[in-house]
Amino acid sequence: MMNNFEQFRKSGDYLVHSGSSRQPHFRLTSGLHSNAYFNASCLLNSDFEIRSAAKDLLKILRNSGVNIQKIDRTVGPRIRNKSGVYSTRLIESMALEIEKETKRPCHWTSAVKVVESDTSYFSPGNSSKLSGIHNLENCLIVDDVFTSGKSIALTAEMIELYGGRVVPCAVTLLNRSSEKKFLWKNKLDITIHSIMSIKMETWTEDECPLCKKGGIAICPREDTDKLAVWY
Ligand SMILES: [Zn+2]
Repeated sequence: MMNNFEQFRKSGDYLVHSGSSRQPHFRLTSGLHSNAYFNASCLLNSDFEIRSAAKDLLKILRNSGVNIQKIDRTVGPRIRNKSGVYSTRLIESMALEIEKETKRPCHWTSAVKVVESDTSYFSPGNSSKLSGIHNLENCLIVDDVFTSGKSIALTAEMIELYGGRVVPCAVTLLNRSSEKKFLWKNKLDITIHSIMSIKMETWTEDECPLCKKGGIAICPREDTDKLAVWY
């Protein structure tokens, strides 16, 4: 069962900087620097781990008193795995687990999220897939990591655009912020349910203590060779 921090570390999805200035640290997609990095790429290569994660997340929802019976659909951005392929497996597995629990159909929808320096959006080529959302369906947001809520907000907007209802909770593998809730458009408090919560420190380039020590920052998705050497 993949239900704790050690499992993530063992799988290689959670990387922590040693403190040595020779070892590169991380530049996140937000542009901020950090001494820790998470992506679910290793986990996403294992069907068994994905199913375990979905089962864990369902249990967390149930224990938190969320009305699972009401969920009609899971929706989220596709998650990029190690080979750069976008995976929908977590979103699919979550729908399947809900279906097993409720004995009624639960559908799923996802699209490719494009991240640019100061903005992110769903790829127009893929957003048409979100039109699979039916009017007034209760949609649960599923994502790999909760950081600032940008991705949750983007997904919620798409759900609303296609006539769905945003369930006031979301599931993620990791919550790397210190917040447990995200206020969407000043109208809906979305509670974040995660398998693991770790506050990961981030800094702007100017204030990054690792840069000050002479270290360099790499983008884990692009500098895969350097990543492989050091982590
Ligand atoms: Zn730095």
